[in-house]
Amino acid sequence: MSQQDGEQPNQSHSLFDAFLHAKQCKEVLGRFEELCSHLSLEHTGQIDFYHKLKSSLNYWSAKALWTKLDKKAGHRDYDQGKACSNTKCLIIGAGPCGLRSAIELAFLGAHVVVVEKREVFSRNNVLHLWPFTIQDLRALGAKKFYGRFCTGSLDHISIRQLQLILLKVALLLGVHIHIGVQFKGLVLPAAHSHGQVNGWRAVLHPGSSPLSQYKFDVLISAGGGRFVPEGFKRKETRGKLAIGITTNFINSHSRTEVEVAEISGVARIYNQKFFQNLYNKTGIDLENIVYYKDDTHYFVMTAKKHSLLKKGVILNDKLDVESLLSPENVNQEALLAYAKEAANFSTNYQLPNLQFALNHRHHPDVDMFDFTCMSRADNAALVRDCNGAKLLIGLVGDCLVEPFWPLGTGVGRGFLAAFDAAWMVKRWASGASPLDVLAERESIYQRLSQTSPDNMNKNVNQYSIDPTTRYPNINLQAIKASQVHNLYVKGDID
Ligand code: FAD
Repeated sequence: MSQQDGEQPNQSHSLFDAFLHAKQCKEVLGRFEELCSHLSLEHTGQIDFYHKLKSSLNYWSAKALWTKLDKKAGHRDYDQGKACSNTKCLIIGAGPCGLRSAIELAFLGAHVVVVEKREVFSRNNVLHLWPFTIQDLRALGAKKFYGRFCTGSLDHISIRQLQLILLKVALLLGVHIHIGVQFKGLVLPAAHSHGQVNGWRAVLHPGSSPLSQYKFDVLISAGGGRFVPEGFKRKETRGKLAIGITTNFINSHSRTEVEVAEISGVARIYNQKFFQNLYNKTGIDLENIVYYKDDTHYFVMTAKKHSLLKKGVILNDKLDVESLLSPENVNQEALLAYAKEAANFSTNYQLPNLQFALNHRHHPDVDMFDFTCMSRADNAALVRDCNGAKLLIGLVGDCLVEPFWPLGTGVGRGFLAAFDAAWMVKRWASGASPLDVLAERESIYQRLSQTSPDNMNKNVNQYSIDPTTRYPNINLQAIKASQVHNLYVKGDID
């Protein structure tokens, strides 16, 4: 019976609705557990869970979501959820890219576990979405979880909202998600005297986590910009000094606030007059500024050092950027004033009474970051082989290529890498030789840093994990198996 027929919603319906609309990470997990226990469903870690859930929840609101997810799940790439049904994956990090990878691996039928060291999703900062990411999230039912998702011409979302959407989809597809669990390293498989070899396991904190016994043959590292697993090298590119400031103000969604225009990227080269005026009137000197209206009023700008010194934000000039931006050398009050003044000027003083939103430490949400050095991993994947037990390790998201926030490349390239990694796992599960899998992955990775919406295939509806649907004229054999022997690592890493 359906609510449309005028029936009272039953308890499973209200539990499902509460899950759909939960607004905090812990609340999502709690609601989901309640729902599963009410329906007596065991969360299996695989896509079969989704099919059982679907048959238990067959009312109009759920059905609209199932239609979307069924359409995705029916894509030929997933081979009806059997492409990776014998593959066990561990994913490090429940940021947008870890969760997006988890979803693809679940559709492929893999057993997927995500570990996330934090317990809250607290980032107000807003991410720019490329057209294909909007299309992709819509196809996953984003609007069912977050009604305001990309309404009208909006092309952005706060990091925490994006995480919440993806967390919910991942759970529905059977992914196991453990928060408050930190990945610390790998346990090498030991050979027993009777010839059996143990699988790969992880060292986790807290050590008491039962997950320490979980054996997996694929590890996806999505731990963000500062996290790189053993065996990978990163290359730093040093550009000219770039100091980024992000800030969030409370959005009360008043009519006046709604009317203020967003700034989707005023770069100095395009609008010299604006920056000159800003400097003349306020002493603030910027390279660029972006303003998005979302849960908060979010601004990201690149500030010139001399103006930060002049306005007393940075106390003393120093040669190395780390000391320059170290907390002892930054006047927090002056930083708040600088960010607020820039926000006010750039919106023509139309946002009344700007008040800082608070970050997870309950401080005004303003941060200053160094973008002078951007790093990217030399390679996207490697295989470790210990006593014959093979482990495929892939990097995705910021852990693979660090994005420059004011350009908003993070989630665009991050999702592409998540799809590429899923494709790699599919090839791995199909029994392709490890060197062929690695060579193909590196061939695709070569393209990542140059990608933008302008040079990708135009038909975003056709995008799938298959790289040829996304990258025009890609040569999947640009790198040969003979060139990636160094990515097949036997035994321990020196
Ligand atoms: P992240 O979103 O960084 O997620 C990585 C996750 O892994 C985190 O949740 C982390 O807690 C977890 N983790 C790390 N190590 C471990 C471990 N050992 N074990 C378990 N879990 C682990 N981009 C913009 O375009 N604009 C912005 O304003 C902006 N602001 C940002 C502010 C902050 C504080 C950060 C960290 C990033 C910001 N970014 C911004 C970058 C943007 O968030 C990323 O590009 C995007 O979220 C995709 O990243 P990801 O999933 O690869 O990594």
